[in-house]
Amino acid sequence: MNAHRHEAEGNGAVVTPRLLGPAEIRDLAQLLDVTPTKKLGQNFVHDANTVRRIVQTAGVERGETVLEIGPGLGSLTLGLLEAGASVIAVEIDRRLAEQLPHTVRIMQPGTELHVVHDDALRVTELPGEPVRLVANLPYNVSVPVLLHLLVHFPSLRSGIVMVQAEVGHRLAAEPGSKIYGAPSVKAAWYGRWRIAGQVSRMVFWPVPNVDSVLVGFERADVPGTEAERIATFAIIDAAFQQRRKMLRQALSGVLGGSSAAATSVLARAGIAPESRGEQLTMDDFLRIARAAR
Ligand code: SAM
Repeated sequence: MNAHRHEAEGNGAVVTPRLLGPAEIRDLAQLLDVTPTKKLGQNFVHDANTVRRIVQTAGVERGETVLEIGPGLGSLTLGLLEAGASVIAVEIDRRLAEQLPHTVRIMQPGTELHVVHDDALRVTELPGEPVRLVANLPYNVSVPVLLHLLVHFPSLRSGIVMVQAEVGHRLAAEPGSKIYGAPSVKAAWYGRWRIAGQVSRMVFWPVPNVDSVLVGFERADVPGTEAERIATFAIIDAAFQQRRKMLRQALSGVLGGSSAAATSVLARAGIAPESRGEQLTMDDFLRIARAAR
């Protein structure tokens, strides 16, 4: 890479920047002949202030292992390394995965990076035990990627992810709100979620046609066994597939095959059969799964 060199203030010395700006993003994309694809959600951040804000919001600590999904050209990776983290980065695009160690060697030599060239939806082993997830997620798969990582990597205790605003608000939604849905309840299985900031679409190349937010999570102890989670998630899916219907109808397929059978399971769980999925907490859904056993 032809890393852009900037003249340091006053003394005429040249320094290689530690983070990627518009010039470096343009150079790297040219070098790799990368045309960002929508299919892989490739929108690259070219603003160092945004990167530093994400790293700071995530509370990254020196020496800890951070998992990044979709490092792309390395914008956020370099921010995490600058903060002293050891980074494991999972990238599906081979050209980007191969280039990243070179970029890091030039811009931040001596830092610790492991690149895994794989699909984040399939990865089940990592070269280390990350405690924190920090990522600008590919938007079309952000929820399935998050749920996959939370199932397979219990070492992840907290995280900050950048996602499409609508998805972020859904993840952090409380029961009773219009946007509360299956992702909100499933996410709540793993801990507490919050909106941690807005991100302007102007910091990306190419500029996306949606707004973005930062979503934070803190993991809590899971409330049930893995078998209970699977049963609970199936009930959540059924409840929100027909979210306007009363639960005794929406859940008839998964609770005994009839509305009468569903009513009796719901009664055992202490849930009104006339209620709707959007009113229930994750604990309510778990109680239904347990009553159905
Ligand atoms: N982190 C970079 C940044 O902030 O500039 C790039 C973020 S871009 C929104 C998403 C990245 O995820 C792209 O590099 C894309 O190639 C990668 N990606 C898309 N689908 C993926 C998947 N299933 N597994 C791993 N990486 C994926």
